[in-house]
Order: sequence, then structure tokens, then C-alpha cells
Amino acid sequence: MKDILYDYEVEEAVNKNNITYWFPFKCSICGENYGFYFSYGRVIFDGSCGCSSAFGERLTDYQEIANIYNTNKNNKEFRKEMLNYFGIGDII
Ligand SMILES: [Zn+2]
Repeated sequence: MKDILYDYEVEEAVNKNNITYWFPFKCSICGENYGFYFSYGRVIFDGSCGCSSAFGERLTDYQEIANIYNTNKNNKEFRKEMLNYFGIGDII
């Protein structure tokens, strides 16, 4: 499995596979998933769910997505799911 994921790899995968969102987080109160939207080259984090909009929306970048992978070094299952979702190869 990839040791480090780079921002440009995520960007390429999003464009190539027409990915419009990625919701890796789950609200512990209402159970709704939330996370990131990809729109016209922009990356938007939307932290609102059914019960709260405390986090709101903010503009971010592909580096934040890559960092989530890179900081979950010991969570192999999460990493595998993430690479599968984005269609990024070299997952073994
Ligand atoms: Zn919630």
C-alpha cells in the first residue's frame, strides 16, 4: 500500500473518475456522514450534518485530503477504503 499520498494524486483521481464528494466522517449524534465536496477544481469541506451546522463550510485543498490518508498510517482498513474510493492504484 502507498506510504504517502500526494495532493496531485488525489486531484488527478477526482478529475479522472468524476468524483464529486468524499464523506469520510460520521456524526456521532445523528449518524449522518459528512466531509468534502469537489466542484470545478475546488475542494470544499462541509462539516454540517442533520443535527448541527457548527462547523459550516470552508474552502480547502487537496493537501488536506492527502493529509487524512497520511496521518492514518496505522489504519490500514481506512487507507484501503480510501484508495478504493478514489480509484488510486497500488493498494496492495
Ligand atoms: Zn449530526
